[in-house]
Amino acid sequence: MLDIRYIRDNAAQLQQVADQKGIKLSLDELLDVDRQRLQKLLELENNRKERNERSQLIAVCMKAGDQVKAERLKEEVRQINLELKQLEAVWSELDRRYQSLLMLVPNPVSPDTPHGLSDADNVELRRVGSPPAFDFEMKDHVALGEELDLFDLPRGVKVAGTRNYFLKGAGLLLHRAVQQLAVDLLMERGFTVMDVPLIVREETMRNTGFFPLGQDQTYEIPSEGKWLVGTSEVPLISYYSDEIIDVTEPIRLAGVSVCFRKEAGSAGRDVRGLYRVHQFAKVEQVILCRNDPELSEQLLEELTKNAEDLLDLLEIPYRVVAVCTGDMSQKNYKQYDIESWMPSRGSYGETHSSSSLLDFQARRSNIRYRDDDGKARYCHTLNNTAVASPRILIPLLENHQRADGSVYLPKALRKYMNGLSELRPNM
Ligand code: AMP
Repeated sequence: MLDIRYIRDNAAQLQQVADQKGIKLSLDELLDVDRQRLQKLLELENNRKERNERSQLIAVCMKAGDQVKAERLKEEVRQINLELKQLEAVWSELDRRYQSLLMLVPNPVSPDTPHGLSDADNVELRRVGSPPAFDFEMKDHVALGEELDLFDLPRGVKVAGTRNYFLKGAGLLLHRAVQQLAVDLLMERGFTVMDVPLIVREETMRNTGFFPLGQDQTYEIPSEGKWLVGTSEVPLISYYSDEIIDVTEPIRLAGVSVCFRKEAGSAGRDVRGLYRVHQFAKVEQVILCRNDPELSEQLLEELTKNAEDLLDLLEIPYRVVAVCTGDMSQKNYKQYDIESWMPSRGSYGETHSSSSLLDFQARRSNIRYRDDDGKARYCHTLNNTAVASPRILIPLLENHQRADGSVYLPKALRKYMNGLSELRPNM
């Protein structure tokens, strides 16, 4: 959410951002409702003032024995009360419209964000590592998973429908190993690791900027009026909602959670294998800091580096892209995606997403701190994936496969894999 004063002053620029981010919103309509709402508020205040003045006069007249004037004033107060009732109804409807339009206003984007319509317009910043050159017939992760007995996709579909899976044996170990590696690295780097609530209130989704626009992507529990989170960013940020916190040092949090996604609008996309599923695990990094754009910029680099270091430990080739406006969500100010090399796709596929939101999320969630002058200010917030599994198992298995059907395990994972240095069929 943005300050309405900022919106009034930058409406044309925000309309452009809304259009580029694909958000259906008319800033003119919002400003019009805003004007009408303020006008009604003024009328309401004036009427209340008049009513109060007359009420005081009634008391004076009664005391002075001027019954006639007191009765006339009483009739006027009754009239004003009737008008007030009507005005209040009009004002609440305007306020409801105002609040719902306000919820759609996007965060502006950083000056260095590339302009574009979709991920095809993202700009590559760097490539790290080289895709392997196989001198044998390469298998995709689905074939490797079957042969190594790491997961069962058909039974996942049988039990839970499309985009579901079972992880088995060494597959489960690997899924947990990548997460534990991320947890250990982040703890070493000063993050507080948390297990978080996954079923949250609707306002928690709204205040973190996932609703109303992401509602169709989210699983609902209607009987409870609650929702299943698609990322632990939601509970991690909300941990501090409506609080004044100490961010003398940035607060670094990491959530370890299952994530649930409806993947509405992805029909027919990435249906094979583990790329796009309804339920996955993620270790998520979140930072809350002072309202200082330079500091946010540094911390975005820090979050991105943590993810890159993890990919280095997993020995996976990757690239970092600057995400363009059309591929950014409403709440993001600046975003990098990290894409890992996926041999079966013959391309890089997104495995991490690193975002800076400035004070957009903190304003909605009402998270503040006191600056050096003691003034309460909204924090800045940032987030990035540390690791998301099972998607990360795709580059892990495919890049490390060998001609004999075995898969090499990077050194950093072995201590979490009972010391195994490779996966072999019929182990
Ligand atoms: P996001 O929270 O949308 O920025 O996604 C962060 C990361 O979670 C992505 O880069 C993927 O690695 C993973 N991810 C997101 N959606 C899915 C999905 N439907 N299935 C599997 N992994 C996903």
